[in-house]
Amino acid sequence: MMSKPGFFSKLGSGRNRSGAATALAPISATDIHARVELLNNFEDLRLGWFWATDSKGRLVYLSNSAIEVLGGDRDVIIGKSISDFFVPDRADDPDKAERPLPFLISARNSFSDLPARLALPDENLEVWWSVTGKPQFDAEGEFVGYRGAAKDITATRERERDASRLAQYDGLTGLANRHRMEKRLTATLTAYKAAKRSCALMMLDLDRFKQVNDTLGHPAGDELLKQVAQRLQKVIGDDGEIGRLGGDEFQVILPDMDDRGGLGELAQRVIQMISQPYSINGNRAIIGTSVGIAIAPYDGIDAEDLVSSADLALYAAKGGGRGQFRFYSSELKEGARLRKQIEEDLRDAIHQEQLEMHYQPLVEAGSHKVKAFEALMRWNHPDNGWISPGVFVPIAEETSIIVDLGEWALMRACRDAAEWPSDLGVAVNVSAVQFANENFPSVVRRVLEATGLAAERLELEITESVFMADPHATKRMFDRLKKLGVRLALDDFGTGYSSMSYLSRAPFDKIKIDQSFVRGATEDNSSNAAIIRAIVSLAQALGMITVAEGVEAKDELDLVTSFGATLIQGYVFAKALPQAEVLERLQEGRFAYEIVGPSKHRAERKTVFRRIGVIHEDHRYEAVLRNLSRSGAMIEGILNVPKGTDLVLDLGEGQLVVAKVRRSNEATQGLEFETPLVSDGADGLCTRHRISPYALAAAGMPLQALPPGYYPLVGNDRQDGPKSRPQFMEVQTSMGSSRSN
Ligand code: C2E
Ligand code: MG
Ligand code: MG
Repeated sequence: MMSKPGFFSKLGSGRNRSGAATALAPISATDIHARVELLNNFEDLRLGWFWATDSKGRLVYLSNSAIEVLGGDRDVIIGKSISDFFVPDRADDPDKAERPLPFLISARNSFSDLPARLALPDENLEVWWSVTGKPQFDAEGEFVGYRGAAKDITATRERERDASRLAQYDGLTGLANRHRMEKRLTATLTAYKAAKRSCALMMLDLDRFKQVNDTLGHPAGDELLKQVAQRLQKVIGDDGEIGRLGGDEFQVILPDMDDRGGLGELAQRVIQMISQPYSINGNRAIIGTSVGIAIAPYDGIDAEDLVSSADLALYAAKGGGRGQFRFYSSELKEGARLRKQIEEDLRDAIHQEQLEMHYQPLVEAGSHKVKAFEALMRWNHPDNGWISPGVFVPIAEETSIIVDLGEWALMRACRDAAEWPSDLGVAVNVSAVQFANENFPSVVRRVLEATGLAAERLELEITESVFMADPHATKRMFDRLKKLGVRLALDDFGTGYSSMSYLSRAPFDKIKIDQSFVRGATEDNSSNAAIIRAIVSLAQALGMITVAEGVEAKDELDLVTSFGATLIQGYVFAKALPQAEVLERLQEGRFAYEIVGPSKHRAERKTVFRRIGVIHEDHRYEAVLRNLSRSGAMIEGILNVPKGTDLVLDLGEGQLVVAKVRRSNEATQGLEFETPLVSDGADGLCTRHRISPYALAAAGMPLQALPPGYYPLVGNDRQDGPKSRPQFMEVQTSMGSSRSN
């Protein structure tokens, strides 16, 4: 306490209030007059105040100088309850006291140095007192009131608050920092749990931010983050609190939001806003963002669970091809568990010889003669059987297991290719992670030496993602590889950022047109055919050859051949086969491939096969969902439900949909939904609202985030036995019966 020496020096050093020196005698404990003067002095100097209440908590005494601070009218102030002078804490204030003053006083507790804000007529004026009080009892032990003291702590509190502001806000963007967001989320969720309110959490991760940082420099990256923060504030406004967790990670807390339709629209606006070009010191930069959304109490009750759900949703959004939002669903948790399992098992896969390379022919368009094979990795998992490289390669890339995997694949493929006739090439896929590794050209050279394969027979397939790295390093890598004499192909062209400049910048021998363009190119009013034609002529102009990937049907083959694609790869000729079968075929001299695919491409019908619950009156049936759109569904499994019947579908995870039967034919019904479904961010659909875990808790279930599956509350009357006779009959439907089309 800085003021104490002053106080004592004023009294003790022998100066009176006018400053004149007087010799002050020591004050004896029995000299009441001198002691009262001492206390008066203490009060008048505003070093502290005294207060007292009666047994009802009404003020019977308050120091004069304190009365002045409060507005000055002694008659009004004395007799009021002490609690009335302080502002009550806000329920969601993360700094609020554990037990507020009125509570302590009504419980007749002692308290000391309790910070409390004065309720003053001018609401903008902030004055804080630190209040101490002790309950008093008479000889019989009856409570007679409080005696206490208080002092002004406004200045200290401001200093503390400035310090904690620094600790709570991000210096760059002025947004809340991770620490504050955590506190805020915990406080909000705790308060909302009691009030049974919902709260959404949005996690954002910028796409391509690293690229801007690397190419334009860190100050530009900082400027970009500032502009992102401003744009976020514009979109979110007062609807929520925005924080920057670090790097290019942002978070938004959205209290009382649980409408997934509205949240999806908000996320879409955020994505659009952030994807607009930025101008940074005269440079133009374009980034994007992915958004993951989880909602309490449905997807998590406490902060930790909700954050981990939102993280999973964000991960899925990024995996779904960036620039997307995604809602959490319990499937994602299962997916994450599986991913982890795959990651662990993958580490052993090489040593335990669970990996194989299979080879798919690349066939010359006119003659159907094989020119090369693409090496595709196959993993025979001991428990789960064959796992697609589409699943495990991305996981291997995240964990850099891909470096070992890729080296193994290269060695195996070159060794196998060395056994083929010497005019056949082998194409090996190279991940961007391998490509970014300085050592990669030495690995390639070593493999060529070890296997004796001629360099020009090896073709490396890379995707556009390699251009996301530092352009100089990428250029150097291309040069070093070309020097080795190997060939280079650009894989999956058209799916990435597809910049023309990539093609002119890099020495590709071949462009592979992605399957997504071939698929459906023969359908009416598809723009794919025009795209394929454009890519082929572009490649011809640049002196590169083209491969049409994923050609499945004869009509697709005819189309891409007529456009001038050089090579064809697809099931129309063959799938990837093990080396033994490739060798057998080659030894028999069968170099030309026959068409084995269907004559026509058939449009994929978007169908879902999922067991769902159907509730009618107080009975629950099981049915199979055959197809699903925003406005309706087709279900199978209940016999002869008349047109016009109202049903409730239980799509799982608390998603209930009110529907009317519009068409009915034996065990199949066409339904129309009362409220349309909304997008889940990927290509799935979900309900806007779900039944609340609070409602389930009220019905006796433990309060928890919505688990997958059905809930007893949702008309699952099996436990108590049906209350009425079911009106309809369930029939067995096999999940796969009408899968083929
Ligand atoms: P990719 O390099 O684009 O390979 C072509 C994929 O299309 C292969 O899938 C192939 O089986 C499939 N495909 C070929 N023709 C058809 C068709 O007519 N219809 C359909 N529906 N699919 C067809 P796969 O083997 O599942 O590989 C998926 C992806 O995994 C590959 O795409 C490649 O990116 C990656 N991959 C596979 N092996 C390796 C590897 O050894 N290293 C690396 N880094 N990636 C690999
Ligand atoms: Mg490939
Ligand atoms: Mg491809």
